[in-house]
Amino acid sequence: MNILYIAQDNADIDEHPGPGLSVSAVSEENLFNRLQERPDALIVGGDTERQTEERIKGIRRNPRLCLTPIFLKTALPAYFDSVHDGIFTTYPDLVQKAEEINGRVRDMNHKDMMESQDYTLLAFLYSRNADLLPYKSPLSPQVYLFPLVEALGDPPQEIFRWITGLVERGLLAPERLVDRIRLCQKCEWSHLNYVDICPACQSLNILRVPFIHCFTCGHVAPQDKFLTEGSMQCPNCRTKLRHIGSDYDRPMENYSCLECSQSFVDPQIIAHCAHCDWKNNPEDLIQQVITTFRLTAKGKYSAKLGGIDDIYALLDNLNYVNPRHFMVMLDWLLLLCKRYPEDSFSIIGISIKNAIELTAGLGKHKVSTLVDTFARRLRELIRTTDITTRTSEHNLWLVLPKTSSAGCAVLAKKIMTLQDMTKQEDGSMLELKSITFTAPEDSNNAETAELLIARLTVFMEE
Ligand SMILES: [Zn+2]
Ligand SMILES: [Zn+2]
Ligand SMILES: [Zn+2]
Repeated sequence: MNILYIAQDNADIDEHPGPGLSVSAVSEENLFNRLQERPDALIVGGDTERQTEERIKGIRRNPRLCLTPIFLKTALPAYFDSVHDGIFTTYPDLVQKAEEINGRVRDMNHKDMMESQDYTLLAFLYSRNADLLPYKSPLSPQVYLFPLVEALGDPPQEIFRWITGLVERGLLAPERLVDRIRLCQKCEWSHLNYVDICPACQSLNILRVPFIHCFTCGHVAPQDKFLTEGSMQCPNCRTKLRHIGSDYDRPMENYSCLECSQSFVDPQIIAHCAHCDWKNNPEDLIQQVITTFRLTAKGKYSAKLGGIDDIYALLDNLNYVNPRHFMVMLDWLLLLCKRYPEDSFSIIGISIKNAIELTAGLGKHKVSTLVDTFARRLRELIRTTDITTRTSEHNLWLVLPKTSSAGCAVLAKKIMTLQDMTKQEDGSMLELKSITFTAPEDSNNAETAELLIARLTVFMEE
């Protein structure tokens, strides 16, 4: 194992720790620019904490070194916990941890990973078998940071949105709930001050005071307006007030505005943004749930094999419309069919069951060719009036206007025979599953396009 160290104080680094281990010093310049071989592990220190931090950031941002195990000479602030791999203690300990990480790194497809920040993050999490953890930083705009995301590259402007994108693509999933924060509607900072203001003129200048309600004339005013020369008298009707309950009582109102003299029961509450000055209505604040994130099964495959989204995208070369338009069109066909039941149409759903497993076995390039071949043959089978869409990556839908169930069954059978054409020498091939539907006979009254496709998906994915 080839271990490099970059540290100012090398006193306790043993350069001859034992057989099979090579330990040598490296300069910053050589580490970042001249290294021929990727080291198996790095021991990092610095003159100052700041210098160590900068070195770690530099290593993680370097495409060749970003996955290399890093061990620290001395501890750093907790912010860096998810960015390095622990404090250097003994060589056997280092070797064990580094081997575990490097074993997983060897498992991965590196080319794809370097091409996108998405895959670098997935690869890092996979190599450490780690979750993506938020770190609480009270002064930061959104209170929580993701140090690993910041370390691995130029963080996207809106980290939360970027992570949400990875969740929507099924690569990451929220794991443990950490917190719920609220953000300014305008600038999305979390530094909010909740203040009570006058509901009439929005002034801050309000006061909580006791009020009096005169039974004789119904006048309501702050108590001090009723106090004249040491006795209680209504300032409106001049009645002397002696007994609470018979002459007067205390009404619900107990706030008074010193600007506009309005009295009111409850002040209005606003969330005043300390950053942009916007006065948010509390109901309009953006709610952000803070969780840890874990790689999904698909995220793990993607870390190992690179993105497989582009394989499925080959299916979009058919007469493709996006799912939203597809649903609108299908709704329209369903309505039409209700009115003119003699005008039938059909749907074929096709699910590719094993693209991920195939990619693991045959490699991405080979599987792309298979899916491409399949898509070409499929295009030869369908008519220009037939429409396709994909609702999830591997589920393809064909709508066949003016097609009876018999016609639909014939086409579905032809499509299923296409999987034999993708057969490889070792017997592996694309595994397809299909489902057919013909309106009006198979349609449920009142079923919308979305519900229909959801119902068919359940059958197809069984
Ligand atoms: Zn007011
Ligand atoms: Zn009165
Ligand atoms: Zn703001």
